[in-house]
Amino acid sequence: MDRAEKIDSIMKRRGFLWRSSEIYGGISGFYDYGHIGTLIKRKFENLWRHFFLGLNPMFFEISPSTIMPEEVFKASGHLEHFTDPIVRCKKCDFVERADQILENILHEKFEGLSKEELNEIIKKHKIRCPKCGGELEEVSEMNLMFPIEIGPFKKVRGYLRPETAQGAYVNFTKEFNALRKRLPIGLAVIGKAFRNEISPRGGVYRLREFTQAELQIFFDPDEINDHEDWESVKDLNMIVLLAGSEDAKEVSCEEMVEDIRLPKFYVYYMASVYKFYTEVLGYPKDSVRFRELSEDEKSFYNKLHWDLEVKLETLGGFKELCGVHYRYDHDLSSHEKMSGESQKVFLNEKKFIPHVIEISFGIDRNIYALIDFFYDERDGKSVLKLPFKVSPFDCAVFPLVKRDGLDERAIEIYKNLSGHFDCYYDDSGSIGRRYARQDEIGTPICITVDYDTLKDNTVTLRDRDTANQIRVKIGDLSATISKIIQRGKF
Ligand SMILES: [Zn+2]
Repeated sequence: MDRAEKIDSIMKRRGFLWRSSEIYGGISGFYDYGHIGTLIKRKFENLWRHFFLGLNPMFFEISPSTIMPEEVFKASGHLEHFTDPIVRCKKCDFVERADQILENILHEKFEGLSKEELNEIIKKHKIRCPKCGGELEEVSEMNLMFPIEIGPFKKVRGYLRPETAQGAYVNFTKEFNALRKRLPIGLAVIGKAFRNEISPRGGVYRLREFTQAELQIFFDPDEINDHEDWESVKDLNMIVLLAGSEDAKEVSCEEMVEDIRLPKFYVYYMASVYKFYTEVLGYPKDSVRFRELSEDEKSFYNKLHWDLEVKLETLGGFKELCGVHYRYDHDLSSHEKMSGESQKVFLNEKKFIPHVIEISFGIDRNIYALIDFFYDERDGKSVLKLPFKVSPFDCAVFPLVKRDGLDERAIEIYKNLSGHFDCYYDDSGSIGRRYARQDEIGTPICITVDYDTLKDNTVTLRDRDTANQIRVKIGDLSATISKIIQRGKF
């Protein structure tokens, strides 16, 4: 088995995630999280909350509805622009993204081209159906939103939101007032979003139903060239790849402002994202970079767009895990026009529509990335070296054997710990097998109750990453585990 197959096997066998409704064959682009996957997801989301909401006391999480009326997406531009070029075979009905067909055959990138341009290329290269060789229909545009018909006689048209962001925009004025009319304010949403992808591939990397964690930061555009906390990031070095460039280079945040001419307020949030990946999650610096998107790749609403990418072996290189977008006043201005409700604020002696910087994470792909990146092996056995703070369990408790009172003692310890930690209990199979099972799901600490425990009230703590063991007094157990998890190292 290669690395990807081994990871896939663990994810299915051990309760991480898999295709939804698999007993009926499932539908591409939908996944279910099992008990381990759910624990990791919850921990990742909590880390995200603590880190990003902690950036400013005026950043908060809200929970808007996932179904929104059509007007929202008329205003945001999704109804008109959130489309992919699609092409169908006249003979066998095979359907694919037009740019994807061309990319597979001509081995070049065609993302962002108009349907006219794509039709031209198809004609020029006499491209035919990759399945049956039949003739292709003209390229058309397919909207990627899921429409929903609401209420009796399905009279009201809504959509499953294609991004959580709109939920923050339609609530902006209410929150601005509730937060005592100050800027900047941040509104975060962690929740589901839905995109009817034409042919989702790459497992959880491109899904039709997925979880986003997005933070919309509303600010006064006259203050874009400064940030109150700038000193804390100005010397931070990041690896960046400029649009149109082949080589990534290391630059400081100060240089991002001076040489690359990005506004400080924007670079500050790029730096925050970079710190989240390198310091909180612990990805090594040489595996993380920011890539600037070209004009063709950028969404219609973004003035600046840099993606944070992590190098992932099973996906063949750097992959996007988070985007930092300067959406200008696009969304609030459009909602003002469509709804007739003013989105302007009166602040700093002027009336204006706030601008927005958005930090946008796909949670599912981030979880897959963690598993992919931190998968390792020792003596031919799998060890998932997840950062301790996202490991599904903090610790597992075992009795060495299931007799002589060792099991009762172990259960007692388990019950005490499980009030404070995500804790697992296991008494089946050999102790070696039990260690291996925890290594495979990434549990950082295994606690074993043995015959010495009955004599001196100590237990064994075993480190997932080295298999080294220490002995700890039961009375010190909670404090020791807390310290290890906090430190992120045994
Ligand atoms: Zn065909």
